[in-house]
Amino acid sequence: MVLNLYLSSILDLIFPPRCQICREPGPENICKNCITKIKTIDQKNVCVYCGEPQNDQPFKNAVLCSRCVIEKPHYTIARSIAIYEGTLKKAIHAFKFKGKKNLAQHLGKFMALSIEENLPEIRYCHADAVVTVPLSQNRLKSRGFNQIDCLAEVFSAYANIPHEKDILARVRDTKPQFDLPKHKRKENIQGAFVIKRPNDIYGRRLLLLDDIYTTGYTVNECAKVLIKCGAAKVYILTLSRAILA
Ligand SMILES: [Zn+2]
Ligand SMILES: [Zn+2]
Repeated sequence: MVLNLYLSSILDLIFPPRCQICREPGPENICKNCITKIKTIDQKNVCVYCGEPQNDQPFKNAVLCSRCVIEKPHYTIARSIAIYEGTLKKAIHAFKFKGKKNLAQHLGKFMALSIEENLPEIRYCHADAVVTVPLSQNRLKSRGFNQIDCLAEVFSAYANIPHEKDILARVRDTKPQFDLPKHKRKENIQGAFVIKRPNDIYGRRLLLLDDIYTTGYTVNECAKVLIKCGAAKVYILTLSRAILA
């Protein structure tokens, strides 16, 4: 223990700790300056179902975006904390693709504090458990860990909702949704998930966590399978939201 502390203080001298985003020296993985640059979503002005930010006049309740008017999602509601851009985009990228696993501490805490402050509809949805979208075996192999499980672990500790691992599983590999044209995304994800332990979700209210909401097809497909297998409600919370052109 003493040796570890000694070693880490020597390492701090050689490689002073830095913000993983702006590289400024400091003790935090994401510095306060970078946190304040994250563009959070004005939750008063979003689609009531999918949480898509609306640029029109603030809603007079129960107003839906153009997609939810055509097709109601399988989940009850989806909400995202901030826009997928700038600092947050860099942080998610470093966390997912550059092996910066320790960013989960900051991002998971940030999610929990954000629902406390700005998202009563998620904070008080009385979720029985937090579940996550599973990675494909190929992606799990190349990344070495499911980053969303790391995030969910931290989030659930701060939000005081148990995290249940391995509820959903992928039955086939899918292409990354980001790489596909819009019209291919829905069919890419259809039938990709199964429930491993249906008894564990029967009659329960679940909060499904993910990092980015793009078209919502992935989380909606997960919600469809969870509801079909007996979950009472599925709520979606994502760290960020990609604004589609
Ligand atoms: Zn920084
Ligand atoms: Zn919507």
